[in-house]
Amino acid sequence: MPPLRVAVVGSGPAGFYAAGALLGGETAVEVDMLERLPTPWGLVRLGVAPDHPKLKTVSRAFERIAERPGFRFLGNVEVGRHLEHDDLLRLYDAVVYAVGAQADRRLGIPGEDLPGSWPATEFVAWYNGHPDHQHLHFDLAVERAVVIGVGNVALDVARMLALTPEELGPTDTADAAIAAICGAGLKEIVVVGRRGPAQAAFTTPELAELGELAGADVVVDPADLDGAVGTDTNSERNVEVLREFAARTPSGKPKRVVLTFFASPVAIHGAGRVEAVELVRNELDAEGRAVPTDERRILSCGLVFRSVGYRGVPIPGVPFDDRSGTIPNEGGRVAPGVYVAGWIKRGPTGVIGTNKKDATETAELLLADLADAPRKGATAAEVDALLDERGVRRVLYAGWQSIDEIERGAGEKQGRPRVKLCTWDDLLAAAERLHSAA
Ligand code: FAD
Ligand code: NAP
Repeated sequence: MPPLRVAVVGSGPAGFYAAGALLGGETAVEVDMLERLPTPWGLVRLGVAPDHPKLKTVSRAFERIAERPGFRFLGNVEVGRHLEHDDLLRLYDAVVYAVGAQADRRLGIPGEDLPGSWPATEFVAWYNGHPDHQHLHFDLAVERAVVIGVGNVALDVARMLALTPEELGPTDTADAAIAAICGAGLKEIVVVGRRGPAQAAFTTPELAELGELAGADVVVDPADLDGAVGTDTNSERNVEVLREFAARTPSGKPKRVVLTFFASPVAIHGAGRVEAVELVRNELDAEGRAVPTDERRILSCGLVFRSVGYRGVPIPGVPFDDRSGTIPNEGGRVAPGVYVAGWIKRGPTGVIGTNKKDATETAELLLADLADAPRKGATAAEVDALLDERGVRRVLYAGWQSIDEIERGAGEKQGRPRVKLCTWDDLLAAAERLHSAA
């Protein structure tokens, strides 16, 4: 029987873990990994905070998967643009969508789109060098920024804004972002949670890190902790760390990161750009939900970062649940031959490792469905011919290795892990410098 040919769409953790599980079993499988960017690793390259370089080394496990026989990386190939869902159904025995969550959840309040109010998704993509976001101009010359949400992304945003030039310098943060953050006049970053400290979504090591910043004091109002009782181990530890923060006397560092709870934004105000956020005081009901009171306050600020979660986007021709922002599935199966893994399967939560179990479940289901099914007989050459016909300048794995080598080489000279190439032109030129993708 010829090998099972599978298209894995997306090269983040879910895509790589799915490819690894597909290529590691008894069934002969060939995987084409289709990625819209010229670079692999998804949010490991373009989401994980640059001051957490150790976490990014998970890509070594992905590199080993990419070396397995039967694996091909086809970068700069977007499904829904260069190839359609129907093309994939014709050219492959099965498709796994591992496209992550490319958009942001909205607050749905007046003033949300005022200049100076940003989704965290865009700020994160910008400071990580995502080529679609380098045209954005973040004017950080304000005294106070407000971050809405108390998940780990909110903490990443607050911490990145608070880092000193010495802390940012040795990272692979995009050069423009380093310049903007270091030149910023920011004095205070206020992180706002709609529920209490015990209900915060962030994890304790990430919270504790805020207490160790070289250039910023962490500030917590002890009143927010009155009666706070953790609901699980993480939440108990969070409350402990927050109590320790609340007991601190600020040491006069140049910036302050203030964590505040029981408050929801009801409007963002400003004449032509953000000048303030209006917050309502919440109480918790018996189920731990936030219930607004009549108490409101205006917090002046020049920037708002809305960090209330990512959101999946539909792929044309593939079912989509608009409420959850995911592709409806059972255990990873959308329909026989069509599967999902990662954030587009279960929603935008979970750390890198969570995607391994999730993607393995999908791969096992796919193999059980199709191991003995007749093959469609389409070949890799047919995929190449179609991409050539459509003029797609694709980046193969060797093209990515060329980008990687150039970035690491530039980084070595500056004592940084890499200096990222941040524009489409630079990335495509680097991919083709050592290797012709055609
Ligand atoms: P993604 O990583 O988003 O990968 C999806 C890929 O699909 C992308 O490369 C995208 O370009 C591609 N794609 C999308 N649409 C198409 C299309 N139409 N055609 C082709 N390709 C497409 N977890 C940790 O363990 N530690 C951390 O420190 C950490 N930090 C994080 C920081 C941020 C800001 C965020 C948002 C998440 C963080 N996480 C962290 C969580 C972790 O990144 C996710 O669990 C994981 O990346 C989700 O994997 P995924 O493969 O589903 O999606
Ligand atoms: P998240 O963990 O789901 O946090 C979202 C936050 O937004 C919650 O505090 C939530 O509060 C709040 N929120 C949602 N809607 C709101 C609204 N309308 N008004 C006010 N607040 C609102 O999402 P995330 O921070 O985007 O992180 C995504 C995933 O990536 C998480 O699993 C996270 O752990 C992971 N990640 C991990 C790391 C790391 O390990 N270092 C770093 C970054 C991200 P409620 O709880 O009240 O809904």
